[in-house]
Formats: sequence, structure tokens, C-alpha cells
Amino acid sequence: MRKIWEYISVRAENALSIKQVMSVAMSMLGFFHLCLTVFFLFFNIYPMVLIDLFSVALYIFCFVQIQKDKSLLFLFNLSYMQIVLHSVIAALLLGTDSGFSLYMIAILPIGYYAAYNFNMRKQVINPMCYVIIAGAAFCFLRAASSYMGPYYFYGNKMVDSAIYMVNYFVAVLSIVIFITTLLNQIRILENLRVQQNKQLEKLSKTDALTGLANRRSIEERYAQSEALNEGYSIVIGDIDDFKAVNDTYGHNVGDTVLQAVAEVFKRTVRSEDIVCRWGGEEFLIFLPKCMGHDAAHIAHRILENVRITDMETSEQAVFHITMTLGVATAVPGMEFAQVVKEADDRLYHGKQNGKNQVV
Ligand code: GH3
Ligand code: MG
Ligand code: MG
Repeated sequence: MRKIWEYISVRAENALSIKQVMSVAMSMLGFFHLCLTVFFLFFNIYPMVLIDLFSVALYIFCFVQIQKDKSLLFLFNLSYMQIVLHSVIAALLLGTDSGFSLYMIAILPIGYYAAYNFNMRKQVINPMCYVIIAGAAFCFLRAASSYMGPYYFYGNKMVDSAIYMVNYFVAVLSIVIFITTLLNQIRILENLRVQQNKQLEKLSKTDALTGLANRRSIEERYAQSEALNEGYSIVIGDIDDFKAVNDTYGHNVGDTVLQAVAEVFKRTVRSEDIVCRWGGEEFLIFLPKCMGHDAAHIAHRILENVRITDMETSEQAVFHITMTLGVATAVPGMEFAQVVKEADDRLYHGKQNGKNQVV
């Protein structure tokens, strides 16, 4: 009961598939026509008994075919036409006051639901086809009722009102079900889109191999940093002779070395620092509120930690690598790019002066 309430108040977490919706609709329609059969039998309206028995059989057939994944669009159109024809015949026999003509309005959202869902399966339907069919049937009934009265009377005004109310209730229910089904679908798609966008945003800012921030995201994060006015430093580290690692042990080992170095960076820096994969085998750290010697100290710890980290070849043999790091501290008025360039220049000097050092 709670789930049904959530569904019709458009708070459901899952939208039903078109197959599920059609299965439920066929079951409900079959049951409704069974009730009508009993009702008409009670009031001796035999043509309607026959029509409703036929309808029950039709909905059982449709239900079975849907479970077998037979052409859903065909089965949908078949049941749509059944609703229209049944309503027309019932309204002609029992009069438009019986409320059967209400279904010509109630089925309009169903047409739109189908047009939307079958369109998603690349079958183009114009929902206006359904609107025109229902509208034509409704107008035909209005015109016919002015020429001829109903064939059958229940002999009781109370019964007349009761059947009208039941038809009104079922018509409203079908409008509610199909509108909420569409709205639930839209809401769930919307949630999915928001989630996927978040994931895409995260992916676009993350380096896939190391899980570090990528170069694209670092400037954005730098701009957001509250510590800008309080100064910051930049450290750029580059693995020494990494080409030789690839050439000697293979590219896969090279990749695991990059991951291991990324781990060293992550565990060596402070929580407020941002580590980024700057290029192929170059890493950059943004160190807010960390100046000169403090930044150099962190760079030295990284140098040492990388140096002692065991790297493994594919044969589980251990080897070691070294890095060269350049450190620069921002002075007031300096652009981010200038600080980065300064750190990069120092890194270059370190490479020229024998590598495996902090400059
Ligand atoms: P130096 O000490 O002067 O830095 O020498 P180096 O060999 O480290 O520098 P170089 O720039 O000549 O080579 C960097 C190498 O990094 C070349 C490239 O194939 C490798 N590389 C870049 N990105 C990746 C990657 O994602 N995975 C692997 N395995 N290798 C990469
Ligand atoms: Mg290198
Ligand atoms: Mg390099």
C-alpha cells in the first residue's frame, strides 16, 4: 500500500518498464471487465455480458503475450481499441449518463504515455492519432445520444448513479496512473542525469591511472582555495630516467610505478595539500599556507619516501627509482603559472645537476 501511495504521489524510487505497466494494466482491465460481466449478468443486460466476457478473454490473451515479449505496440493498440469500442457500445446501450464516455477522456494520457515509451524504442508514433480516435468516438457518442435514447434501464436511479461513479473513479484512476508513471519516469531519469553528471565531472577532474587530480582540475581547485591570500608553494616532481623503467621492465610495470609514486605523494603531503598528475611522469603539489623551507621539507620527504619504496617487476624482483623535485613559493602579485614555471625551472636545474635531488 505504501509503495502504491509513493508511486501515485510521484515519489517512487523505481519507474516501471512499459512491459510491467502493460502487465499491470492488462490485469486490472481484465479484473474490471470480469466485475462488469457479473454486474451486467445481475441486471440481465446480456449483450454487455458477452462483450465483457470477450474483453476478459482479450486481456488474458494480451497478458500472456506480453509475458512472452510479443509485439508490445500491437498489444497496446489492440487494448486501446478495445477500450474505445467497449465504451462506445456500452454508452450506446446504456446511455451517455452511464459514464462510459468518460473513458474517451481518460485514455488520452495513455496515448501520450505510449507515444513517449514506444518512441524510446525507435518506433515513431504521433500521440495525436490516439487523441483523434478517442475524440471521434466521444463526438460520435454525443451525436448518437441526441437521436436515440439508451436501450437498457436499470430501473433504478441509484444504480444509474452508482455505475456512473464507478466509471468516473476508474477513469480518474487510469489518468492518475498513467500521468504518475510518466512523471516517475521523468523524475528518475532526471536523478540519473544528475548522478551521471556528477560522475562525469569527477572523472573529468581525475587522472584515471593514479586517481589523483588531473592538470585540468588543479587550476580550478587552486582558484577555490581559501589560502591564496596567506601564500602557498608549488612542488613539481619528475621521475628520473623513467623511460628506462619502461624500456627495461615494460609499460605495465611503468604504470604500477606511477601508481606507487602517486601513493607516496598522497601519504606524504598534508590533508590540505592537493596532489595532481601534472604530465606523464610528473607530479605537482599545491601547498597552501606553506612557505619556503616548509615546502622544501615536504619535497625532501617525498624524495626520500620514493627512494626507499620497493618497486616490483613482473617477476616480483625489486628495484628502486629516484625523483627530482623543484620547489617555488609564491610571492605577492605572482600568477599561479609563474610559480609553476619557477618550480619547473628548478626541476630542470636539478635534472642538469645529476637528478635525485630537491632544488
Ligand atoms: P628524466 O630523468 O630526464 O626525466 O628522463 P625520463 O626518461 O624520465 O624522461 P622522458 O621525458 O625522456 O620520458 C618520460 C617517459 O614517461 C616517456 C613516456 O613513455 C613515459 N610515460 C609517460 N606517461 C606514461 C604512462 O602513463 N605510463 C607509462 N608506463 N609511461 C609513461
Ligand atoms: Mg622523467
Ligand atoms: Mg618528464
